Amino acid sequence: MLDAYGRNITYLRLSVTDRCNLRCRYCMPEEGIVKKAHSDMMTEDEMIQAVEAAAELGVTKLRVTGGEPLIKRNILSICRRAAEISGIREVCITTNGVLLPSLAAALREAGVSRINLSLDTLDAARYRQITRIGELSQALAGLEAALKTGFSRIKINAVLIGGFNDDEIPALAGLTRQYPVDVRFIELMPMPGGAFTDADSYLPVSEVLRRLPELKEEKAEGVARLYRLPGAQGCVGLISPVSQHFCAACNRIRLTADGRLKPCLHSAEEISLKGLDKAGMKKKMREAILGKPRCHEELSAERLSHSARNMNQIGG
Ligand code: SAM
Ligand code: SF4
Repeated sequence: MLDAYGRNITYLRLSVTDRCNLRCRYCMPEEGIVKKAHSDMMTEDEMIQAVEAAAELGVTKLRVTGGEPLIKRNILSICRRAAEISGIREVCITTNGVLLPSLAAALREAGVSRINLSLDTLDAARYRQITRIGELSQALAGLEAALKTGFSRIKINAVLIGGFNDDEIPALAGLTRQYPVDVRFIELMPMPGGAFTDADSYLPVSEVLRRLPELKEEKAEGVARLYRLPGAQGCVGLISPVSQHFCAACNRIRLTADGRLKPCLHSAEEISLKGLDKAGMKKKMREAILGKPRCHEELSAERLSHSARNMNQIGG
């Protein structure tokens, strides 16, 4: 369905849990989350109803995210049921990859067609530093498992952090030569509860072009500008939510694990769907789409996101 600014809303990001098996510094606090009452969270049936309502309003693409979606006990059932909904053409997952060795094949079988795997560094000590508790070897095993399973497309997402991984731009981009994957560099968004909100940590993705002048531009895809290293199997994507936000082309809405619909990632506005039936959800969703703001304010170290939540609650 079209919003008030003529944008066709075809993409729902569904956060199935706010919990995670990692603690990335820019995403969530060290102590984890304040556990909410089970009754405050969306049930599987409510999630599926919400996806059905979204599909009836014209959503065709679902991204399942979190927190870490793969720690959700019923993740396979959620994906399978979502993939069967009329109008939903693709179900994708964004994951840290740690649990992919045991789940990749089952996810594929459940109808998940694409995987985005978050990986900010190829250095084990840095991986531990950024995730606070993670093991790089587990994320890499997850990547291998995804590659073996035959997902139609695997994208590696790396958040660019000044003074942390900018010296790894060539190595991370080099994964597109080694594997049939895209590597997408994403600008760090200054979220109120996250670390690295200082000006030095933020780097525009143009830094990737400066470090890799051999990149050749290809056709843009969605929010990513695409490039390719000579001889590479996959593309290098640049995603610039801060330096060149893509509000004018934004086609997405987000739903949190406790049932709050967010028409805009960086706005505090939320509309609760928890406890509604499908008709009620659809009505609220339509209102939310019509009320989707034209744009969010500029983001910077001085002007943090207005979102009332950390990224682990929103899903990215
Ligand atoms: N746990 C899964 C994962 O890490 O892929 C899914 C949820 S995570 C919130 C989704 C994406 O948001 C990840 O790629 C993560 O790197 C990104 N992210 C989290 N906080 C961010 C921030 N402050 N700026 C930019 N990206 C962020
Ligand atoms: Fe967990 Fe993903 Fe957030 Fe890292 S970015 S803490 S893996 S939800």
